[in-house]
Amino acid sequence: MAARILNGTEIAGQIKAELAEPVSRLGEQGIRPGLAAVLVGNDPASQIYVRSKVKSCESLGLLGETIHCPESASTEQLVKLVEELNRRDEIDGILVQLPLPKPVDTNAVLMAIAPNKDVDGLHPLNIGRLAERLETLLPCTPAGIMEILRRSGIPLPGAEAVVVGRSNIVGKPTAMLLTYADATVTVCHSKTRDLAQVCRRADVLIVAAGRPGLITPEHVKPGATVVDVGMNRIESREQFDRLFRNDAKKEAAFRKNGFVVTGDVGPEVAEVAGAITPVPGGVGPLTIAMLMVNTVKAAGLRRGGRIPAVSSGRR
Ligand code: NDP
Repeated sequence: MAARILNGTEIAGQIKAELAEPVSRLGEQGIRPGLAAVLVGNDPASQIYVRSKVKSCESLGLLGETIHCPESASTEQLVKLVEELNRRDEIDGILVQLPLPKPVDTNAVLMAIAPNKDVDGLHPLNIGRLAERLETLLPCTPAGIMEILRRSGIPLPGAEAVVVGRSNIVGKPTAMLLTYADATVTVCHSKTRDLAQVCRRADVLIVAAGRPGLITPEHVKPGATVVDVGMNRIESREQFDRLFRNDAKKEAAFRKNGFVVTGDVGPEVAEVAGAITPVPGGVGPLTIAMLMVNTVKAAGLRRGGRIPAVSSGRR
């Protein structure tokens, strides 16, 4: 039987709708939450991501500002820019779109963001607060994953959860949040021995490896919930054929655009899993929704309003 599709676009829509109330409450106090997105260079994917984040702000009545810097911007210039944004009162959240051009010291730029404006939740202070299980601005993608699971009624207490990937942005904080939700968590990475066997343990399998087609039916216990975080651009015909030989819709998109975006989970997994997130339309929209949640929350915390009633990935 084909898996239930966990529709991220729909869930993200619910979360955004729930933000209307706290946004209007802040508005009554004369506070309009503001997000500044720093875009460096001309990477087309980064431009698309920033555009959709700023558009999302506008649709919710938040201030969304893009600051476009040239590819040649230095670490010092970007740190200075972030420091200026730290000082601007109408800016509640600062987002530096990654990846930054190679010569830039990404860590130095991210560390310059004031922790109370760190709406990506990546500053070491906020990660430390998360590790201590204190209230904080949660990293957006992991918080979004938790929202998908919670709002889809996937039970976590006592469940076996396996996270493939241990990055600071996705894998590691997701493993923390799953632990806090009382799942029994195993973290896998590129040195894991017999990945398929470990993954087959999972009632809930989260995959954030950036490897298209890594997860096949032999990695999945029948009926398991699979969350596919991967976002991979497939441009080579050979790779496309390996993954999507018989998919007419994808074939048409590939011919039209010269690429398709796909996750880390192979298409046949939907025949084994009980529930699965699609790519696109799964975790991606949640990442943006949680960025909006964090921006509103940061405005409330810093400017004296109240924290929105929307959940922040905790149970
Ligand atoms: P990183 O490259 O930082 O981390 C990848 C992780 O996967 C590493 O821990 C790596 O292990 C592990 N890994 C790589 N290959 C294998 C393998 N063959 N078997 C087991 N583990 C493996 O990536 P990110 O965490 O930043 O992103 C992961 C994916 O999620 C990407 O496709 C990215 O585009 C996507 N993403 C999607 C978002 C969304 O909103 N939907 C947001 C953020 C990311 P090791 O540590 O040993 O190297």
